[in-house]
Amino acid sequence: MRLILLGAPGAGKGTVAKMLTAIDGSVQISTGDILRAAVKAGTELGKKAEAAMKAGELVSDDLIMGIMGERLKEDDCQAGFLLDGFPRTIPQAEALKGLLEKMGIELQGAVNLNVPREVILDRLTTRRTCVDCGAIYNVKSNPPKEEGKCDACGGSVVQRDDETKEAISKRLDVFNEQTAPLVGFYDKEGLLLDIEATSSDVVVDAIKKHVGI
Ligand code: AMP
Repeated sequence: MRLILLGAPGAGKGTVAKMLTAIDGSVQISTGDILRAAVKAGTELGKKAEAAMKAGELVSDDLIMGIMGERLKEDDCQAGFLLDGFPRTIPQAEALKGLLEKMGIELQGAVNLNVPREVILDRLTTRRTCVDCGAIYNVKSNPPKEEGKCDACGGSVVQRDDETKEAISKRLDVFNEQTAPLVGFYDKEGLLLDIEATSSDVVVDAIKKHVGI
């Protein structure tokens, strides 16, 4: 599959991407995961991105396009890719279009996951993440077996720095201002698949139907 997953923070892009990778071996490419790993490792990229991320703001388009220009050339992308959290601005979407044209790659769709704001707020404030492997938990619906410890790798399960109430509110404002316009962009491109996304299973079924598998 070669898809873009659009939707607010907490809409379920990461969960759906993981379910889809298991179907056909496509890779999930999450710019948020790449940036968090860079911050953790203390690289130049991490240092440049850290302040904006903590504040719930976007990292610059140039930095993101530098990362994605390299990432999409890697061999594992030949099996297909699910873009999770990218593009997030119209300039990123335009740059991606040029990049894919140059590489001779056609997208199969841009899937917009629609989830009501109250559901998003509840999901994000109760979400917890493993600092080592990135596994996602939820204190209400899916807590780790042992509090604060990842079931998969034993790493620490914590609340992300940008999942405080203030940062979440900022991220949702940034989403509405800068990322929501991408729905219109991909509609014009004839690529949009708009889905009510309260259940990940329903989303995955709709996507499978859309790409014909
Ligand atoms: P995410 O895990 O996708 O919610 O991303 C976490 C944070 O990383 C965002 O709030 C931004 O600060 C940054 N980020 C991730 N992807 C992008 C992107 N495509 N453009 C700009 N900033 C991004």
